[in-house]
Amino acid sequence: MRGYGLENIGREEIAGKEQIFNKYELVKETAMDRLKGIYPYGTFMHMLEEDMKSEDKKMALVYADIRNFRYINERFGYEIGDRLLRMFYRLIRKCLKGFQYLSRVYSDNIVAVCYMDNEAADEENLILLQEGINDIALKLQTKFMNKKVSICAGVCVIDADVADAQTAVYNANLARKEAKKTKSITMVVYEKNIKANYNYKMKLASDLPLAIKNKEIKVYYQPKVQSTTGRVAGGEALVRWQKQDGSFVYPDEFIPYFEESGLIVDIDYYVYNEVFKSIKARLEAGLMAVPVSMNISRVHLESSEIILYIKGLFQKYGIPPEYIEFELTESVYMENYDNAIKLIRELKRMGVKISMDDFGSGYSSLNMLNNIPIDVLKIDKVFLGNNSKMLGSSQKIIIQSVVEMASKLHMRTVCEGVESSEQNAFLTSIGCDMIQGYYYERPVPENSFYEYVVKHEKIS
Ligand code: C2E
Ligand code: CA
Ligand code: CA
Repeated sequence: MRGYGLENIGREEIAGKEQIFNKYELVKETAMDRLKGIYPYGTFMHMLEEDMKSEDKKMALVYADIRNFRYINERFGYEIGDRLLRMFYRLIRKCLKGFQYLSRVYSDNIVAVCYMDNEAADEENLILLQEGINDIALKLQTKFMNKKVSICAGVCVIDADVADAQTAVYNANLARKEAKKTKSITMVVYEKNIKANYNYKMKLASDLPLAIKNKEIKVYYQPKVQSTTGRVAGGEALVRWQKQDGSFVYPDEFIPYFEESGLIVDIDYYVYNEVFKSIKARLEAGLMAVPVSMNISRVHLESSEIILYIKGLFQKYGIPPEYIEFELTESVYMENYDNAIKLIRELKRMGVKISMDDFGSGYSSLNMLNNIPIDVLKIDKVFLGNNSKMLGSSQKIIIQSVVEMASKLHMRTVCEGVESSEQNAFLTSIGCDMIQGYYYERPVPENSFYEYVVKHEKIS
């Protein structure tokens, strides 16, 4: 976060706002900022500090940016980008209820101060702000005829808990980042739990290196059971963080954040290394081993380092590639098609198998399956419905069609999240190759997993 200050001017010199602001504008304004009500950041912060001194004023600080601004700039050119930005400024001033003044923090990130109705409850004031934000998003979309154009705003209501202007901007920015994590939410209001959450995640990040060293990061395995025989066809490696007090932190809690910060790469490499090591140990000891699949985070698509890392693991452990599979989630193919294909081709050259994970959970197109060289289709648990362990007739038709299609395209199928005997029986009857889910077994530590593998090998 950029700090604020009045750079060249001491507080005592501020005689009247207008005079000083004009001075700043002369020094710092750019063509883009030459619109009424837009101030250099230092000036803006000073105005806000002054405003915060008067106790009878209810105010909100809005921190907003344009979704996909970089994409618009790159796709349509900077001239269009500048036009979009100018319109954004204009709409902020026009549509935000009680708008007073704004500043650009950097790029398309702006902060704006709005006075709220002193008589109305916070809720009512916030609804009005939300309406303004939605109005801006809609007008930008209509003008630029592009659904990708929208805005993303965080709001901090300035009350006694907000110590100074810097805290107000910081809080509103945290709230904006929460909105940004979603695909469609345009405005999030700062609440204390956002900060607590943020601090918690920061702590997880700083604890990670030691957690890896202390073996708090563990690899659990969940069996994929062959539907016709009951034998274990393979397993999926799923990461667990078990704190020293015994409590677990689950992947959904830390992975999205570690993807943001890039730390997921360390976790993935740790998991891959543990899996290779474990397979090597079993083979050397003459014990039964099965193929294990590992998840590849979207972050790996940004560089080809992962290929070198995996090649290095094959050299280090010397295990046959048929024991190794990788899962790449469906949305990654949509977001980064070219890099996904490149990565898959390189992995397949090493002889490993590739699954498309979470198939059906997003907006994949069936046509895409035609072009991607995958071996296994993992059918997402959404197909099984949320509430019932029984399947409705239309659900059955859809699942059956997906399984048939995959089989015609020479892909094997796994259905995930299978919890009931009815689901298992249906999936088996339509020829789904493998079943993964609590119905058979939850993700468990390595020892328990191989006990399960061996036991079911004997039964079948
Ligand atoms: P995923 O790859 O789709 O993994 C399947 C998730 O479904 C696992 O959650 C598993 O515990 C859960 N699951 C399995 N059977 C059932 C069932 O019958 N019912 C229900 N409701 N859930 C079931 P988990 O282990 O919490 O992992 C969540 C996600 O975190 C994974 O989803 C994967 O995307 C990610 N993840 C886990 N481990 C790693 C890892 O080592 N690296 C990376 N990059 N991502 C990982
Ligand atoms: Ca997976
Ligand atoms: Ca999955």
